Amino acid sequence: MVNNTDKKSFITPDASVKLSIPEIEESASKHLAPFKASAEHQAALGFPDRLIDNWKDVAIEKLGELSGKYRGLRVYLDSCVNCGACTDKCHYFLGTGDPKNMPVARQNLMRKVYRRYYTFAGRTVPWLVGAEDLTEEVLDDWYTYFNQCSQCRRCSVYCPYGIDTAEVSMAAREIMDTIGVGQKYSNEVIGKVHKLGNNLGLPGPALANTLEGLEEDVLEETGVAVKFPLDQKDADILLVTPSADFFAEPHVDGLIGYAKVLHQAGISWTFSSTASEAANFGLFIGSYDNMQQIASRIKDAALELNVKRIVFGECGHAWRVAYNYLNTLAGPFDFLDPKYPMPQHIVEVTYDLIQQGRLHLDASANDDKRVTFHDSCNIARASGMAGIKGGQLSVPRDVLKTVCNHFYDMRSNTIGEATFCCGGGGGLLTDDLLELRVKGALPRMQALQELHDKHNITHMAAMCAICKSQFAKVLPYYGFEMDQIISVHQLVGDALVMQR
Ligand code: SF4
Ligand code: SF4
Repeated sequence: MVNNTDKKSFITPDASVKLSIPEIEESASKHLAPFKASAEHQAALGFPDRLIDNWKDVAIEKLGELSGKYRGLRVYLDSCVNCGACTDKCHYFLGTGDPKNMPVARQNLMRKVYRRYYTFAGRTVPWLVGAEDLTEEVLDDWYTYFNQCSQCRRCSVYCPYGIDTAEVSMAAREIMDTIGVGQKYSNEVIGKVHKLGNNLGLPGPALANTLEGLEEDVLEETGVAVKFPLDQKDADILLVTPSADFFAEPHVDGLIGYAKVLHQAGISWTFSSTASEAANFGLFIGSYDNMQQIASRIKDAALELNVKRIVFGECGHAWRVAYNYLNTLAGPFDFLDPKYPMPQHIVEVTYDLIQQGRLHLDASANDDKRVTFHDSCNIARASGMAGIKGGQLSVPRDVLKTVCNHFYDMRSNTIGEATFCCGGGGGLLTDDLLELRVKGALPRMQALQELHDKHNITHMAAMCAICKSQFAKVLPYYGFEMDQIISVHQLVGDALVMQR
């Protein structure tokens, strides 16, 4: 264990030791429940503004409704055989040692209630089948531990039945919202998107100013007048990107990279002031209605601006929602150009342009860097790319290897489909969960440390806004610098030989 010099009340785990199964420590992370949503945040999303009087009945009814509506959820609740294969696969268990962070134990928080009210054995001999009443104590555990799941799906890769704890935690959050117990961070963010079009509550004029500032910066840096268009009618591409890209570090350098690529390829494109956010936190709280409302802005903007294509920027869960559900949530998109996939990811666009030889790239521009890549969970385990099997893993690597001469992968059981979550996904990127975030990042930090010891890694690239924000915050806890996390498209933009 290492002590940190900054002010905090927990000890950062030691990432220099190899990944191992921690000692069990009952309730080790029980104190790490996120702040609850205020009455105002709940009401803005159409949820009760406090715990309702008949919460138990409503929660049980909602559980029945969801397990009836979503066949997957019912199968997950019915089919666990307690084989234990998932127990050591969750980064929050590995980082905290709390046994309730074992995926099967997390699922069991819901399974025992489901069995009690929705199975014959649970109704008649509950003590024999691990069925339990829904009590205040159980609800407290639900709130704590379903908000300690980043919905990363790593456990499902190792489960012989493919049981997906992410789906269970989404359902649990939906049930809790329905009875008036929402999580502050996610619900506040969703409210901002509904009101102003992005997670930050950034109004259109402020966005226009930011983009003008970026144009000036790029002109000064490169001498090339790269445009960052807003609400440009009849552009080819509507680019929908996480709002963190507009100002956060290292996100903004990635956004500059997208603009440079599109400029050099001569493709017309635009942002939209009404759909200035790729993120869709409706996924995190399991709310189809909120997901749909957020997704619909993108279609409305595409129609309004008369674009031919929709492209998503570097955001993990946004790509998961777009890739899997955008058509169902907001389709049809038959007004777009059928020559292109709908939707498309910016890294697919860059990859295609590289294949076509339309970008002049000089990888030696990144020779001062020794780079690795963090696969974001939502991209690695819940999406695809470029119509290639495993393209979501190979396409970003092919792009990185084209723009960096020194690229190294971390240990194989920590990347690709087996990638570890950054520790801040699924609506947990909030400072009231900082201790959990730092501890949950442990497996990724161990893999990075191991590679760094071999190859003196200077940068870890990522293409997810949450991963970038999370690593910028937690890298220093593990003795790295915050700017060692870098956007994939910053590396692309830096290698691009710009022509005027
Ligand atoms: S989905 Fe991810 S965070 Fe949730 S239990 Fe599984 S491994 Fe842990
Ligand atoms: S791996 Fe699957 S079946 Fe085995 S304990 Fe975990 S959830 Fe249950």
